[in-house]
Amino acid sequence: ASRNPLIDEQISSPLQVFGQAKKQINNIFVDIQDYVTDASERMIDVNKICPDVIVENELKSILDYRSKVKGICEVLTRDHMKVAFFGRTSNGKSTVVNAMLGEKVLPSGIGHTTNCFLQVEGSQTGDAYLVTEGSNEKQNVESVTHLAHALNYEKQLNEKELVHVYWPKDKCSLLRDDVALVDSPGVDVTPHLDDWIDAHCIDADVFVLVANAESTLMVTEKNFFHKVSTKLSKPNIFILNNRWDASANEPEFLDQVRKQHMERATDFLVKELKVCTPEEAVSRIFFISAKEVLQARVKERNGQALNSGALAEGFSARYMEFEEFERRFEECISKSAIKTKFLNHSQQGKQLVKEMYKIMETIYNRSQEQTHSKMCQKKEFQEKLNFTEQQLICITNQMKMKIHQMVDDVEDKVSKALND
Ligand code: GDP
Repeated sequence: ASRNPLIDEQISSPLQVFGQAKKQINNIFVDIQDYVTDASERMIDVNKICPDVIVENELKSILDYRSKVKGICEVLTRDHMKVAFFGRTSNGKSTVVNAMLGEKVLPSGIGHTTNCFLQVEGSQTGDAYLVTEGSNEKQNVESVTHLAHALNYEKQLNEKELVHVYWPKDKCSLLRDDVALVDSPGVDVTPHLDDWIDAHCIDADVFVLVANAESTLMVTEKNFFHKVSTKLSKPNIFILNNRWDASANEPEFLDQVRKQHMERATDFLVKELKVCTPEEAVSRIFFISAKEVLQARVKERNGQALNSGALAEGFSARYMEFEEFERRFEECISKSAIKTKFLNHSQQGKQLVKEMYKIMETIYNRSQEQTHSKMCQKKEFQEKLNFTEQQLICITNQMKMKIHQMVDDVEDKVSKALND
């Protein structure tokens, strides 16, 4: 359960923290959008009545902020957590993806090699369909065989190309919680690793190297991750030593083989790539059997017991280790995606609001100054008016007195003349 007071719902998986954070940041941006829209509409109105109060640049900036916020809101609704799987052909990448999804979504095994990038994500409509790169056409997918056929024959797919596979969200909790899983062609089949990384890895939150526990890590596998870590700072990498069920046939070497794989994989992450500490490496390297997990989960879906049927020695321990991988993976991807996807947006949002506040404050101060100077002009004018009035009264009075005196004088002079 969450202790964050801002989070109102109970959290049962770390993945839901991403969902909650996405909801919160979306709500914040909806508020910012309302504020920017409201502010820009008022600015336009004010500008019509008093064109001197707002400078042209200020109005332009406010309108720019409006479209910027709209853009961020759109990106935010599309944001998801992305995990990409790499490794040599036939190490079991597609099987790991299927095991995590809990059913056979991607074609795997003999007769099928993944020859392009496949991104599985939740379908909004509840239907299963695929969309190839550069096209908007939704091709319905009824089954794995159908998907395999579509991928193999319907179009000559380029290894760099990305095919989106949309799968019903209600069928898998990872998809419901906004995780997108990317399967890749084998790292051994391409000379174009740089292009791959630029096209599909830059925004991945977690990388999973699916290695074969029956052999050691190959140079091609290592090379790929060396290239990734030159382009991304400290990528989150998990190493799955798959096909660990095969070790059940040779129990006498089990501990020794595990120890050797563990040491080499730890050296690779800690010393070569320098992406984690030796302590962290313990929760990044796992020994699993994706095939067994997938089989068990498909059985469980069909109402059978998880551990029914013929199972190799040590199945439960391997199954538990797979679950432990999933737990660590969920913690890691959720934390990383929140940081990379939302930190940037929340900083942009903060900066935007700050700049808008500054502009609004400047406009407010300018309007206050203009009101004040108009009031002063009015006062000055009133004082002048009063003074003139006083002067007029004075002059009028003086004139009145003078006229009286003149009349008196004239009267005196007239009566004197009459008497004379
Ligand atoms: P990809 O090319 O890396 O995607 O490999 P796939 O997932 O297609 O697997 C290649 C073959 O290996 C398939 O026949 C799988 O059934 C098999 N396979 C995958 N994982 C395991 C595993 O853990 N144990 C065993 N014994 N076989 C596996």
